[in-house]
Amino acid sequence: MGHMRTYAIPMTPENFTVWYHYAGNSYPDLKRAIDILLRAHDGVTPPASAELFERFFANAQENDSVRDAITRMEEVMSRAARDLSQAGQGAAAFGDALQSATGALSNDTRAGTLEQVVQGIVQATRQMEARSRELEQRLDAASGEVSQLKTEVEAMRIEATTDALTGLANRKRFDARLREESEEAKDSKEPLSLLMLDLDHFKRFNDNHGHLIGDHVLRLLSEVMQQSVKGRDIAARFGGEEFSIILPATALQHAKGLGNAIREKISKKVIVNRVTGLELGQITLSIGAAQYRPGEPPAELIERADAALYRAKKSGRNKVITELENPESELALGTLGR
Ligand code: GH3
Ligand code: MG
Ligand code: MG
Repeated sequence: MGHMRTYAIPMTPENFTVWYHYAGNSYPDLKRAIDILLRAHDGVTPPASAELFERFFANAQENDSVRDAITRMEEVMSRAARDLSQAGQGAAAFGDALQSATGALSNDTRAGTLEQVVQGIVQATRQMEARSRELEQRLDAASGEVSQLKTEVEAMRIEATTDALTGLANRKRFDARLREESEEAKDSKEPLSLLMLDLDHFKRFNDNHGHLIGDHVLRLLSEVMQQSVKGRDIAARFGGEEFSIILPATALQHAKGLGNAIREKISKKVIVNRVTGLELGQITLSIGAAQYRPGEPPAELIERADAALYRAKKSGRNKVITELENPESELALGTLGR
């Protein structure tokens, strides 16, 4: 509670879950992650607490829903199996009825007996017909329930891989797609590029204008990213105020072009506080770009794009730098040459 007060973490059930388990030390990884943050300059900010919840506990909820769906699916299936076995018994009884009618006919061929036997067969057939119809309806209902469950599971899958604030792919979907696309690029020998985007001085922006307006900026950037990509491209929230775009079939220079287009669009936006109508000025972002080297692990591609992003920051921000450029050493060489 002391930490929550210190870092102004809202007292929500999610945040309580995080800090309750921190205090109880029931998740060593969670404790380690928080201890690292507590030693860092910012401490544990409200967004960081929300991310910790996502990372350590959101999956548990998702698993509960999946378990629930599976239980319901099992119920539907065992009900259908029971219906089918009853139908089997009905068919056996029908067979017995026909069998005994055949027996009756071979023993006695008088007209009266014949009529009785035929009536018996008609009755048994009607019963059989009614049972089949009922079975058909029950199986129809069961298959309806199964396809409903399928839709629900699919919706859960999408929700579990979507970032709640921005609607972009979350880190989980990003990781999965990057793995798939790098495999694909290795096979097809097509280029694959990656952009890492990070808002400039966003901590200062939050400090000056508050987290809610900060969140609004994150959504604005997400919209611009989403509008700027096409086809198989994946725009994702990598974490906090860092974003990423996977660009299949795109070479480094084209990735840089797209990065610059996004950067320019954002830098031209004037952020306005909707409540007060006051202009809050501009916001910029820095971008690092790297191209996949066939066979390398995705983490290495991310690392090179991240290193390029770092150089974009160090050399003045609001720019796109590729893994092949080093603006600082170019600056240093320029100085030496003079
Ligand atoms: P730099 O230009 O070097 O990137 O500076 P910076 O201030 O953007 O970088 P730093 O990593 O120091 O700060 C990141 C900030 O992003 C701090 C944190 O409060 C903010 N942030 C992270 N996630 C969220 C979020 O979900 N919402 C809001 N509003 N802010 C967030
Ligand atoms: Mg950052
Ligand atoms: Mg930043």
